[in-house]
Amino acid sequence: MKPSTRLVTLGRDAPGSAGFVNPPLVRGSTVLHANVADLRERARRGALGDDSGPVSYGIHGTPTHDAFLDALTELEGGFRSWALPSGLSACTVAILAFVRQGDHILVTDSAYGPTRDFCLSTLPRYGVETTFYDPCIGSSIEELFRPNTRLLFLESPGSLSFEIQDVPLLAQIARRRDAVSVIDNTWATPLCLRPLEHGVDVSVHAATKYIGGHADLLLGTVTSNEECWGALRKSFRSLGLTTSPDDCWLALRGLRTLEARLTRHRATAERLIEWLLAQPQVDRVLYPARPEDPGYALWRRDFTGATGVFGVVLRPQVEVAAFHAMIDGMRLFGRGYSWGGFESLMIPCYPQRSVAPLAPAGHLLRISAGLEDADDLIADLQEGFSHLRAVAS
Ligand SMILES: *Cc1c(COP(=O)(O)O)cnc(C)c1O
Repeated sequence: MKPSTRLVTLGRDAPGSAGFVNPPLVRGSTVLHANVADLRERARRGALGDDSGPVSYGIHGTPTHDAFLDALTELEGGFRSWALPSGLSACTVAILAFVRQGDHILVTDSAYGPTRDFCLSTLPRYGVETTFYDPCIGSSIEELFRPNTRLLFLESPGSLSFEIQDVPLLAQIARRRDAVSVIDNTWATPLCLRPLEHGVDVSVHAATKYIGGHADLLLGTVTSNEECWGALRKSFRSLGLTTSPDDCWLALRGLRTLEARLTRHRATAERLIEWLLAQPQVDRVLYPARPEDPGYALWRRDFTGATGVFGVVLRPQVEVAAFHAMIDGMRLFGRGYSWGGFESLMIPCYPQRSVAPLAPAGHLLRISAGLEDADDLIADLQEGFSHLRAVAS
């Protein structure tokens, strides 16, 4: 079945649905057991890592969690998934699960800022060292592996800078070096990239973004192959990480319309990009689905679509006051963090890099194309850019 059909049919057989199309919203901590034998049996299965039967306590998930997570696992082509309180916690726990004191990890220089901060500030306290690598490093990554390199972290396209990585190549090298590969797959969603099919072990999402799609929840997910699931499950359980069934219910509702929304987000992004590239103040646009983008060939080879978030690099001549006046002059584009909701957003970006500085150019913007009419958005850009000219002249 095609992705849009699967989005509609997955996660529909939750126990207790009573014929309703959507799963019940089950809230709860205590689960009652028929007798002591049942209680002991469920505890035994839990200790063995067997999640096939009913759970013994609410922290291990409700039928509402299962409906969302089973659908996501199918879409990612993984063994199992878990939901965490934020996209950031999904990134950090996916690392923590595999490392121990004395280990070394490799993290792309284009990783989401707070993921970088975790590697720089928290991991060293537990004796884990991070080396950042150029997202476009290719096979030279081999030289950065050490005997104690335990994990390779990818994000493609990168946060703020949008480089596409050679995911199959990097995953294959990690495997050969006995390291776990983890990717932050938030930009692509499981509809545009299925990393496990390219050899990656663990795929992470900020479901806060496109999966939720309505700027009304914070949620992270982790999906892995069978080999890596045991270590992840142990970490989620021992750290006590769970999420509300309400957020999983909303995330499943978000999945139902994901393909329809992404089609529109992408079409609008392409319209905005056409307009932006015609402006003399724009140096270039960072969007891997454009043929002139340096990541285009890899994007075409590995991805099955694109979403609606992209970067805009202005010409170096644009002064900072003009840059701010332009952003402040937008009416429809909101000035806010996060992205992937129905509303268009525009923020100035200041990427932090350790080893692969970005090509020198002017100010950098990130745009999330929302679901408004593209003509209205272009009229808004026109007005914003008029402020740019007014202040610049
Ligand atoms: C937003 C984002 C996160 C973090 O998600 P939160 O739910 O906001 O914590 C992680 N990775 C990427 C690529 C993101 O864009």
